[in-house]
Amino acid sequence: MNTAGFSMDIETHIHLDGSRELLTILPNLHRITHGTAREYPFNQYKWSEHLDQVRRWFGNPLKGDIVKKFSLTTGVLQNSDTLYLAAYNFTTMRARKGFRYCEAIMAPQYSTFGGLTEKQVVEALIMGIKDAEKSYPEIEVNLLLAVGREVSPEEAVRLVGIYSECDRDYVVGVTLVCDEAKHPPEKHLIMYQTAKERGLNKACHVSEWVHDPEAQEADLKRDLPQLMKNARTALIDLGIERAEHFRILGYSAELMELTADLNVGVTMCPGSYLSTELIRDVKFLRIDSLLDRNLPVSLHSDDDLFMPNMSEMLDHCDRAYKFTDEQKFKLRLNAWKTRFGKRKPVPQDIAHLLQ
Ligand SMILES: [Zn+2]
Repeated sequence: MNTAGFSMDIETHIHLDGSRELLTILPNLHRITHGTAREYPFNQYKWSEHLDQVRRWFGNPLKGDIVKKFSLTTGVLQNSDTLYLAAYNFTTMRARKGFRYCEAIMAPQYSTFGGLTEKQVVEALIMGIKDAEKSYPEIEVNLLLAVGREVSPEEAVRLVGIYSECDRDYVVGVTLVCDEAKHPPEKHLIMYQTAKERGLNKACHVSEWVHDPEAQEADLKRDLPQLMKNARTALIDLGIERAEHFRILGYSAELMELTADLNVGVTMCPGSYLSTELIRDVKFLRIDSLLDRNLPVSLHSDDDLFMPNMSEMLDHCDRAYKFTDEQKFKLRLNAWKTRFGKRKPVPQDIAHLLQ
C-alpha cells in the first residue's frame, strides 16, 4: 500500500472484529447468523453510505452500550462459517491491498456464545487464513489472541493455556484488551507467567485510558501518573515484548529508557485516539522525537471498520508531522522488527536490516 510516500506493507495492531475488511461481508454474516429473524440494521440500497452508517453506529466506541455496538460484528462471529469467512476475507483483501504481514487481534472468549469452544473459534479462523494464503502466498497473517481483561485471573490462565495448544505457526502471541481503567495490568500477572512458561509472545494494551470515559474527559495532567504506572507494570512485571498504545511514552524519560533497554516494540494508533477523544491532535504523541531517539515505535489503525484506516491515518500524521523519509522508513522497519510471526521471508529491501 503506497500512501503519502509511505510504503506500508505491515500492520500488527488491527482487531479482526473491528477491521474495514468486514464491511463488505457484514450483511452476509448477519444472514448466516440470524437468517430472516433479524434484519441487518442498515439500508442495503444505499451502499455508498454503508461505511458512514457503521461509523455512526459505533460513534465514540468508549461511550455507550459497548455490547450492543459490537453485536454488529462480534455478535455475528459466533459460528465456524462466519469466523472462517471473516479470516479468509481479511487475509485476501489485505493481500490485495499490498500488505505482506498482518497480526490480527481477536478475543475468542467473545465468540463462544453460539456454543463453540475457544479452541474451535481459533481453528475456524486459522482455516480461513490458511485457505486465503493458498491463493495469496505472498502475505503472512497470524493471530494475536486477546484476553478481555474483565475475566478473573484464573480464567485468563485457562484461556492462555488453550491458546498455547492451538496451531502455533499461526497463534503467535497473547495480549490483554478492553477496560484498562477498571482492570489494570497487575490483575493478570499470573496470565503472563503462564504465557511465558508456554513460550508465547506477550503484548498488552496499556497506557491507553485510565479515566471513566462516560463521566470524564481524558486529561493528561490528571491521568499521566496512572498511565505511567500501568506501562511500568506491563514492561517490568508482565515482561511484555510489545506495548500496544503506550500513548504517553513521549512524556517520560524513564519509560523511554526502559523501553529502549528492554527493546519493547510500541504499536501506537493515532487515528484511534482521535476517534475515542483521548487526544485532540496527533502531535500529542511526539512520534517524530520518539523515532529520532530510535525507539521501536510503529503506527497502526486499531479498528479501521469505524476508525481511520492505515492510509487515512498515515496521511493525517504525515500532514501534521511532515515526516522525513528516514522517519517514514523507521515506522515501517520498526513494525517488521517487532512482529511476532516469522513463517515467511520478509521483503528484500529490509531483510538485511532484520538480522
Ligand atoms: Zn487495540
